[in-house]
Amino acid sequence: MNDTTDWFTIERIAPETHQITEGQGVLPCNTFVVDGGDEALLIDTGLGIGDLRSVVEDLVGGDVRVLLTHSHWDHLGAATQFDDVVINGRERGPDGTVSLDVLEDDYDQRPREFMADWLELGKPLPDGFDPDNYSIEPIPDVGAVDPGDTLTVGNRELELVPVPGHTPGLLAVLDRETGVCHGSDVLEPGIEIFAHFEDSNLSAYRESIDRLVSLRDEGAFDTLTIGHGDPIRDDDLSVLDHVSEALTAVANDEASYEVIETSWGPTRSATVGDVTVLTPAE
Ligand SMILES: [Zn+2]
Repeated sequence: MNDTTDWFTIERIAPETHQITEGQGVLPCNTFVVDGGDEALLIDTGLGIGDLRSVVEDLVGGDVRVLLTHSHWDHLGAATQFDDVVINGRERGPDGTVSLDVLEDDYDQRPREFMADWLELGKPLPDGFDPDNYSIEPIPDVGAVDPGDTLTVGNRELELVPVPGHTPGLLAVLDRETGVCHGSDVLEPGIEIFAHFEDSNLSAYRESIDRLVSLRDEGAFDTLTIGHGDPIRDDDLSVLDHVSEALTAVANDEASYEVIETSWGPTRSATVGDVTVLTPAE
């Protein structure tokens, strides 16, 4: 399997905007390329299994900057292939390094779990890739950005919208010109809300969803991309209202739930309408 053309799926989702996907069938991971002409922004870096840099450089002509939306492993994978990487300062270590343990001590087991699942299904890997040595390397010298900053990337103006809750420093990237908001893990396909991590915060999550609802209602975007599924468009964005209602019900203890076992330990799974909310089980 070729490590660029076969490993990644590339789809144009808006003008000068592409979604690149890998890991389908186990954990589909999306990264996004916004092409501003003489500069481009890569949003997240996926699993770090194929040669993401070559794929991105084939799509754009200019220099590539990287924004990591948060420090979960499945968004960091290929970051060491790039020279100019930034993240919300809250998701970075004190020396400017981003690594798997910034937010959660045992997070380095996730890449191993992914690879075990992948191999168990007999799915192919790029030629020359050694699954036994698969890990997510720490990323040194990562620059800090602040929520609310605007990144000028060539001829594009991209707003960094704070959407904490899933993690403390999760950033969405709003591209008003194309009407796309890149929401990362603010929603999981399904629709599921992952607020069951050590440093997830349900009340921050509600405010983040309400912020996105306001931006949607003022017409700032009509497409919401997510980290692990297809973009959500137009009328389907009513899901944000459902998520807001579900988070309110969970916060008010008005949602029925069951406790399920996940690889993060016992997790409370509440379903409100078509939304499932995962929070830690006490
Ligand atoms: Zn995440």
